Amino acid sequence: MAKIDVTCRLCKSNNTVKAGRHRIKSNPEGVQKYKCQDCGKYFQLEYKAKGRLPETKEKIIDMCNNGSGIRDTARVLKVSTKTVINTIKKSL
Ligand SMILES: [Zn+2]
Repeated sequence: MAKIDVTCRLCKSNNTVKAGRHRIKSNPEGVQKYKCQDCGKYFQLEYKAKGRLPETKEKIIDMCNNGSGIRDTARVLKVSTKTVINTIKKSL
């Protein structure tokens, strides 16, 4: 089996191990999860939900500050209105 170096998203350490799979209804196979041995955080290489990405959150806040409505922001970034509302609430 090929070994892939997985870098921690948070502390950039390569000291990571596989830590089970994250299963959801729409993806019964699950997404491989990793655990960082250095900072102890769990993470995935790919996030299915766009709203969970820090980049998307930044864009939501940017658009909101520029006067875009919740529906406009949701449509442009292809996330749900709920994601937009929750992100804005958390940023306040
Ligand atoms: Zn880490």
